[in-house]
Amino acid sequence: DLTRGAALAPEQASAGMDAFWMPFTANRQFKAAPRLLARAEGMHYYTPEGRQVLDAQAGLWCVNAGHCRKPIVDAIAQAAASLDFAPTFQMGHPMAFELAERLVALAGKPFDHVFFCNSGSEAVDSALKIALAWHRLRGEGQRTRLIGRERGYHGVGFGGISVGGIVGNRKMFGPLLPGVDHLPATFNLKEQAFSRGQPQWGAHLADELERIIALHDASTIAAVIVEPVAGSAGVLVPPVGYLERLREITSKHGILLIFDEVITGFGRIGKPFGWQRFGVIPDLVTTAKGINSGTVPLGAVFAREGIYDAFMQGPQGAIELAHGYTYSAHPLACAAALATLDVYRDEGLLTRAAELETCWEDALHSLKDVRNVIDIRNIGLMGAVELAPRPGAPGARAYEAHVKAFFEEDLLVRYTGDIVALSPPLIVSREQIDRIAAGLRSVLERID
Ligand code: PLP
Repeated sequence: DLTRGAALAPEQASAGMDAFWMPFTANRQFKAAPRLLARAEGMHYYTPEGRQVLDAQAGLWCVNAGHCRKPIVDAIAQAAASLDFAPTFQMGHPMAFELAERLVALAGKPFDHVFFCNSGSEAVDSALKIALAWHRLRGEGQRTRLIGRERGYHGVGFGGISVGGIVGNRKMFGPLLPGVDHLPATFNLKEQAFSRGQPQWGAHLADELERIIALHDASTIAAVIVEPVAGSAGVLVPPVGYLERLREITSKHGILLIFDEVITGFGRIGKPFGWQRFGVIPDLVTTAKGINSGTVPLGAVFAREGIYDAFMQGPQGAIELAHGYTYSAHPLACAAALATLDVYRDEGLLTRAAELETCWEDALHSLKDVRNVIDIRNIGLMGAVELAPRPGAPGARAYEAHVKAFFEEDLLVRYTGDIVALSPPLIVSREQIDRIAAGLRSVLERID
């Protein structure tokens, strides 16, 4: 048996669990062997039986400040008791404006405005719509094409899955947005295996954008969207020079460059934002997750100077962007974000991944010779250990690693395909990094 839960008859294990149609989950497999989390604190989750589990995936790439941090909890409680909800359509509340100012100050020039939403998927749809509308306002409404990338993950809205490049997330849902094209993925096992940080090979793959532009003509293309580091597809780190080249080509052709920083934003790779780490400035940046350490749903799109201004035309009373969500800048989410930014600042968390990067890298790469490991990738406090697929059962090894880590090593790691993905909260200690690597080693050595 893989799990303690598996020892139960499926109907026993899943009693009371049927009604929840779980997202991105093998529902029947899960409900037959449930993995439940009841409580959390700092670097740990606690199961309903009280077992302490080290969180090596920051919840879902989001709990960057660690779990249930008191200043954040208090701020949410206070907001809930004093301003449960306030509309931001034709009304406002002070925390929304304060948060936008704080975020713009954190990003620094050239970003000067922030649009709020509730998730990464909504941030992506918002950014794509802003890009299309921006071109139209400037008299280039024929720029309607969007370019994504193979293996990209941009959430699950129709916009996000259209530019996204994960076949399983796309194939069931019809023709999607028209006029979308995709860059090739930057990952190549043969050329890049066991790279530490950015791989040397692959910058030339950005030149594929020139081919796509030659095919469609630049005048039809609104924006290119990529994750600076692809997270959900299994931590695909950009080759040296690749993002620079994308920026060069998009600028040359008047195409907006959108960085989807839902994972890389808020300290994950050693700077507040990923673009700062790579020294490449996009036009729009999508964020969510770490913005308030995953505590209350919140997303934000950062716009480069000039973009907001282009919308501020026409009659004073006209709504400039017909887009927004009931819960855009929800008071609880804003309160959580303001408190989270304080924690990040006071504890130096937004640059901590840079301090720990060598330790993290060494710990992960120490697994190089463990059986079935075919690649290890890392940057900041992100990492992936890729396993050879078991013949005839793709994904089975990483799933087993996830389950065994949880039940037998008290360690929470994420899996996608045959990749074990890691992204601990930014408060992780060096000892805990060693424990993550040791736990994973022990698990992998026991998997055929
Ligand atoms: N974009 C990226 C790069 C992501 O990693 C994710 C989620 O993992 C999303 C968008 C979607 O975010 P959400 O699940 O909050 O909609």
